[in-house]
Amino acid sequence: MARLVMKFGGTSVATLERIQHAVAHVKREIDAGHEVAVVVSAMAGKTDELVAFCKQASSRYDHAEYDCIVASGEQVSAGLFAIALQAQGIPARSWQGWQLPIKTDHIHGAARILHIDCSAILTNFIEKKVAVITGFQGLSTQERRITTLGRGGSDTSAVALAAALKADRCDIYTDVKGIYTTDPRIVPRACLLRRVSFEETLEMASLGARVLQVRSVELAMIHNVKLRVRSTFEDPKTADMGTLICAEEDVMKDQEPETLERSVVTGVTYSRDEAQITLRRVFDTPGVAAAIFNPLADANINVDMIVQVGSDGTPTSDMTFTVPISSYDQAKTIIESNKEKIGFDTLHGTADVVKISVIGVGMKSHAGVAAKAFTALAEKGINIRAITTSEIKFSLLIDAAYTELAVRILHALYGLDDAGETKS
Ligand code: ADP
Ligand code: ASP
Ligand code: MG
Repeated sequence: MARLVMKFGGTSVATLERIQHAVAHVKREIDAGHEVAVVVSAMAGKTDELVAFCKQASSRYDHAEYDCIVASGEQVSAGLFAIALQAQGIPARSWQGWQLPIKTDHIHGAARILHIDCSAILTNFIEKKVAVITGFQGLSTQERRITTLGRGGSDTSAVALAAALKADRCDIYTDVKGIYTTDPRIVPRACLLRRVSFEETLEMASLGARVLQVRSVELAMIHNVKLRVRSTFEDPKTADMGTLICAEEDVMKDQEPETLERSVVTGVTYSRDEAQITLRRVFDTPGVAAAIFNPLADANINVDMIVQVGSDGTPTSDMTFTVPISSYDQAKTIIESNKEKIGFDTLHGTADVVKISVIGVGMKSHAGVAAKAFTALAEKGINIRAITTSEIKFSLLIDAAYTELAVRILHALYGLDDAGETKS
């Protein structure tokens, strides 16, 4: 007998028929004698609708009330899922974040889980009941208010519960077969990865692959949770095991000898969540970077890519950097209000950019991986606005209009296009 956490995302519980299909996966595991706790997201589109209500109600809405509103989607799907299980003769009970409780800090909209009281779920296990838990929600014990964990946060709820329950496995059921070398909706020839390391998954999630929330991967890595991403829409009887996210040394385990040579690159991602700001003719003196970036840091604005271009013979340079699109307007206002202190000529900005990233642990031991990309994109006339690199990835900022083309070019360039088989 194993203990399993099974998480179903928004598309997996989008309709009553889909909930019934998801229930068939749970039934398979129950029939095999396993203990199961289910985590559900809101029905597809529900959270977006609730977020839009908040914004329509007031552009300066109260974040505690935002959480009260957006958390409600998961309440509905948890109740419906429990009813659907009961209808199949499987005893079940729904639990909301505040009922267990899942205790969090008080950062509304982006709360972090501090502790989970598992006693109600453990009692359900003894009673042979399936506990159906609302993902995404927690309870701030400081204020005794509902909190939410950030968009996509049900993944994090599931992994945190798996860690707290010492579950044998945490299965994230979604609308694709697992983690692919890139978004399969953009590149139909993307390969399903059967095993991928925590580090690479973390980079892919941070750099735009929304298949798992970043925090869920961090938690799985810290607590060594056996994490899988798999499809809800497969036949529940012969369910494919999808992708296993595991330690780097386990990625090549049990592989056929001919697949033991790994590709240098594991995945390509894109993120439209960036905006670019350029300051023209910034005075090139010590302290100028601090004058630009300290006020942004004070306002909690995360600056990502930074490029400074000087021109010979002039005492000025151009400074380009990116900020999250949600902080774009605020960042421009802050920079303009510090114009005299910084000393620049003009500010230019655009949100019409995309960050394309190429990820792979193989980059640690291979030189020239990024250079190949620069050439391939230049041949197609795609201009690179900014570049950042780290040990296992590099990111390029380009015009948003080229997103799909650039992802496809890079995916093919690094040999990731599916030749009929899956990659390890
Ligand atoms: P859920 O509602 O189940 O949480 P999400 O929409 O959050 O599902 O995440 C699944 C989606 O992630 C897929 O439909 C796919 O388009 C997208 N995605 C982006 N990059 C990848 C990738 N590398 N592998 C798999 N899916 C990806
Ligand atoms: N329903 C929430 C969202 O749409 C949480 C989740 O789906 O993981 O962001
Ligand atoms: Mg999701």
